[in-house]
Amino acid sequence: QVLVQTPAIAIKDLSFAYEPGRPIFDHFNLTVNAGEIVTLKGRTGAGKSTLFKLILGLYQPQAGQIKIFGQDVAVLPEAEKRQLYGCVEQNFKPVAGCLLEQISLGDPGISEDQVWQALETVGLAERVRKLPDGLDSRLSNAALSNGQLQLLSIARAIVCQPKLLLFDEITANMDVVTEDKLLSALKRAARGNTLLSISHRTELLRGGKIITIGKDQ
Ligand code: ATP
Ligand code: MG
Repeated sequence: QVLVQTPAIAIKDLSFAYEPGRPIFDHFNLTVNAGEIVTLKGRTGAGKSTLFKLILGLYQPQAGQIKIFGQDVAVLPEAEKRQLYGCVEQNFKPVAGCLLEQISLGDPGISEDQVWQALETVGLAERVRKLPDGLDSRLSNAALSNGQLQLLSIARAIVCQPKLLLFDEITANMDVVTEDKLLSALKRAARGNTLLSISHRTELLRGGKIITIGKDQ
């Protein structure tokens, strides 16, 4: 018996340009299977971050189709997106509110247990437990380092336990020790999940496959 699985990401014949006549993607195809770990490479300006934004449905491609677990991102409701995939960008983007809200983004459907679980996965739970106000601490009172803020972004991305994780250069501008901590957190977060990341380090994860986009590679 042949099992045909719906791919985690299926990009078919994608064409996209910010400006007419300057295509970033020209009939681009990419398939990432469920459970796969893929590191995206390409020179600066090749379109790696653009691809993430297209996958997130933030831009409308001029041609082609992007499906996440069989669903077209162009028509996927926001609420469903958060269940399907989480994205971590290069810099942590704070929201108003306490630590709990930094992770739940104010979604009342996310329990404190889920938030603690996410903190545990990224290795921040102990740090937060030591704060006098715990999850109710203001971000400014938590005194987190840049690396820890990045771990907080991962906690935010994984709190709904999405099946697909997208990471964009999250280990850039980090010292080696912090980077190693982040990589361990990534390994735990990636367990059983599909991971598409842009980073010189994530290629070390589970011997994942490397896909290069753009020319001059
Ligand atoms: P880096 O490795 O430097 O992060 P990247 O592969 O992520 O690069 P993108 O940020 O996707 O590259 O950019 C691809 C190209 O599109 C670049 O030439 C960039 O200048 C251009 N670009 C990116 N964002 C926009 C935008 N909002 N409007 C117009 N052009 C853009
Ligand atoms: Mg980029």
